[in-house]
Amino acid sequence: MTEALLSRFLRYVVVDTQSNELSKACPSTPGQMELQELLRTELETLGADDVQLTKHGYVLATIPPTSRKSGLPTIAFLAHVDTAPDFSGKGVQPIVHRKYDGRPIRFPHNRRLVLESSVAPDLEQAKGKDLVTASGMTLLGSDDKAGVAVIMTLAAHLLRHPAISHGPIRICFTPDEEIGRGVERLDLEELGADVAYTLDGGLAGEIGWQTFSADAAVVGIEGVSTHPGEAKGKGMVNALHLAGKFLSALPRERCAPETTSGAEGFVHPTRIEGSVERATLRFILRDFELPGLARKRAIVQGISRGLQAAEPRARVVCRISKQYRNMAYWLRKDMRPVERAREAIRSIGLEPVDRLIRGGTDGSRLTELGLPTPNLFCGQHNIHGPLEWVAVQDMALAVQACVGLTEIWGRKGRGK
Ligand SMILES: [Zn+2]
Repeated sequence: MTEALLSRFLRYVVVDTQSNELSKACPSTPGQMELQELLRTELETLGADDVQLTKHGYVLATIPPTSRKSGLPTIAFLAHVDTAPDFSGKGVQPIVHRKYDGRPIRFPHNRRLVLESSVAPDLEQAKGKDLVTASGMTLLGSDDKAGVAVIMTLAAHLLRHPAISHGPIRICFTPDEEIGRGVERLDLEELGADVAYTLDGGLAGEIGWQTFSADAAVVGIEGVSTHPGEAKGKGMVNALHLAGKFLSALPRERCAPETTSGAEGFVHPTRIEGSVERATLRFILRDFELPGLARKRAIVQGISRGLQAAEPRARVVCRISKQYRNMAYWLRKDMRPVERAREAIRSIGLEPVDRLIRGGTDGSRLTELGLPTPNLFCGQHNIHGPLEWVAVQDMALAVQACVGLTEIWGRKGRGK
């Protein structure tokens, strides 16, 4: 199984599928459609049913039930085909490190880079496994092509082994997850699942069912522009200075991504643009719990009000919009999707580990929309940068855990 996984993975990572939030198209970039066409063809060749590539770039397919029981819930497995806009995904040259010896890994296209346990603590448990990295110029794209390869290998395995007893299974590859649009054009009726899992996590054994709750804030500052030569007499109000004041008023030492971890939330300025006349600051606000998220909103709103009061000649407007919510709020009401994932992970000899997801997944939105969707490991590490790596044997464990999961749902159905 590991060789089939590896060859699939190597085929997928060379397609440039970096998403682009400035594009209005869906998928946002043509490379994603190219990979989706390849996946559609592979699913057809494997003999999956209802293989479909929608005009918005979603691939859907069915693996028909092998169990004779009626009324079994439909389980969906999802992965996203795009890679992060943060770092180049063009011209990926994957390098396979067979039976990794535990020594620091260097990269042919960037001699300054070193992948070692100080920056990748999970490397310790990867000794002896087959690793894949990029070459130093690009990310690898295991986020989330490791998930895609796991699901394709799962499909191949189930279709080849009809003796494995399971209910109906749906497969879904989404575009544009990294720019927050992963399920925007996904028709849940068409997907037709009762429970779903994203394969978009790290270390073998991990389950993610608690994500951030997320809002975005945009602060607009209007100043007063004059000729700089006579600015003193004509009342210049420089929006750029006010923007600088805003940023320095943030409680950065206790509420920024670079100063927080675990269950702590943050306020994170992501973009600033402007001139004397007008400046715009963009922020993301994150917290696992809603009261904590409300406090983050209060920070940004409070600074806006303070700035406005201190400079009445300016106009300071703060707009906040909802992004997504912690999936735990819905999953806690019915933990079966999580408990059965734990059971499946135990069945392959691993200890399940709950992992707080300091971000969102496609599952955050889906769970809120009524489709419970925890996240499972697929072996990706040091994602969104040149040090990204994956262990092929961990991907194989993910396939086995998913096979176990389909059997458990097939055996227990909707019951306890
Ligand atoms: Zn991902």
